[in-house]
Amino acid sequence: MVGDFERLAQEFVNPEALLQFRVCGGQDARGRPQLHCTVKGNVEMLCQRCLKPVSVAVDSDRLLYLAASEADADRLETALADEDIEVIVAGQNLDLAGVVEDEVLLGLPIVPMHADCSMEPAADV
Ligand SMILES: [Zn+2]
Repeated sequence: MVGDFERLAQEFVNPEALLQFRVCGGQDARGRPQLHCTVKGNVEMLCQRCLKPVSVAVDSDRLLYLAASEADADRLETALADEDIEVIVAGQNLDLAGVVEDEVLLGLPIVPMHADCSMEPAADV
């Protein structure tokens, strides 16, 4: 549940929304550790125009590289030179929930809005 994620719970109108996420560990052809992280689901945020809930689809699919240190991360980023690939610094304890949370937050619209607010049924909630 979204409500289980502290940072996400503040973003959404419906903290009971369910997001499906999957994180697969693996490595690339050169043996560098990577994570394939996918998040899917629908959440509700407040429309910034009419302040009614607007449904937002979350569909994130990212490849993350794991680096042992900041310096390592810099090297990896330079080597990969791909903006779609993210390098995260993971020590002994990888905060998987935090990684998933970041992915969801990155995929959200900065200003959620209905395509047409006048089409929304008037709800006096
Ligand atoms: Zn609206």
